[in-house]
Amino acid sequence: MTERNPVGEHAPDRAVSSELRAQRRALAEANHILVDQAILDAFGHVSVRSAENPDTFLLSRNLAPGLVDDDDVQLFTLDGTTEDPRPPYLESHIHAQIYRARHDVQAVVHSHSPAVIPFGVAGTPLRPVLHMAGFLAPEVPVFEARDTLGPASDLLVRTPESGAALARALGGASVVLMRGHGATAVGTSLEEAVYRGVYTEVNARVQAEAMRLGGCVYLTDEEGAATVATNRPQIPRAWAFWRDRARPSSQGVHP
Ligand SMILES: [Zn+2]
Repeated sequence: MTERNPVGEHAPDRAVSSELRAQRRALAEANHILVDQAILDAFGHVSVRSAENPDTFLLSRNLAPGLVDDDDVQLFTLDGTTEDPRPPYLESHIHAQIYRARHDVQAVVHSHSPAVIPFGVAGTPLRPVLHMAGFLAPEVPVFEARDTLGPASDLLVRTPESGAALARALGGASVVLMRGHGATAVGTSLEEAVYRGVYTEVNARVQAEAMRLGGCVYLTDEEGAATVATNRPQIPRAWAFWRDRARPSSQGVHP
């Protein structure tokens, strides 16, 4: 058993490769799910920390999320760069700096989902109003790009410094809103980050509707924590359903 041979020496590499292949497939599926759920459109992106090396992460090359295939996935280091020569997204530093700051985070979804954006500009906090979005407790911070980038930026997180400022604004929360831009959700798994991206948008719609009716009763922090504990093991059920729903568009991508 202690004897090593060439096959044995190569076996670990093969295992790692198959793990990364599985992560690339799951990341392509995450892209398609988020498009099907109208969280991403032609813009926005989703990443996952590498299971092989936690100081690296996987993110598609610069491509509309609905078109992402396994081979489009690039490997980034936590300085936000990749050796892949194909053009990357402009905002890889969102992902890199959050992975640096939050060792619990295994996946990141950056979206411009439309119902969320008003809460980043109106001064009205986004707070959990339904049990599927208890992860929004205790608070959803708002990142003000002007504080880092000044009054004339394009609002994009293009540098390690602005990515680090975004990660500081996120703090220990599950979601950070980005004023005039969108939101970034994190999770302890790819499935959880996708789930949070979806239900952040749902909560924003429901909260805005409740406010139009006259007001909201929000989940307490304790209710939020309890719903997170209950919902976390249920997330694979949502993932399986969403992946199945998104499959026709995937097949359109891969004729
Ligand atoms: Zn963006």
